[in-house]
Amino acid sequence: MRDVSLKVSYLKGLVDGLDIEDAKTKRAITEIINVMSDIAEAVDDLEVMMEDTQEYMESIDEDLGELESEVYGDDEDYDDYEDDEDYEFDDEGFIEVDCPNCHEVVYIDKDFIEDNKAECPNCNAVIDIEQ
Ligand SMILES: [Zn+2]
Repeated sequence: MRDVSLKVSYLKGLVDGLDIEDAKTKRAITEIINVMSDIAEAVDDLEVMMEDTQEYMESIDEDLGELESEVYGDDEDYDDYEDDEDYEFDDEGFIEVDCPNCHEVVYIDKDFIEDNKAECPNCNAVIDIEQ
């Protein structure tokens, strides 16, 4: 909002050049310009604060993004998780099933399948599994 400060300065010069003879009028206009100048300064301060806040928000957003990829993982990080001993997701041990009851695609542990039937982890309905 540097514009406002510049405009106030311009206005001040303009009024100075007017050579207002009436003292009361001159004083009133001078006071108006002083107030405007204070407001312009306050707006400048606010803008600096806004910029600081925005920078702070951006750094929080960045941290959050890093945290999200740590927690949820993304394609880039996937290899790291595979190397991690704590992270074991064995595709082979699971079957992808389209549940006929809740129509969700669910993954069922083969260990929980008995007589080609298993419980849907989403709606708990017993569904037929074709292996
Ligand atoms: Zn289901």
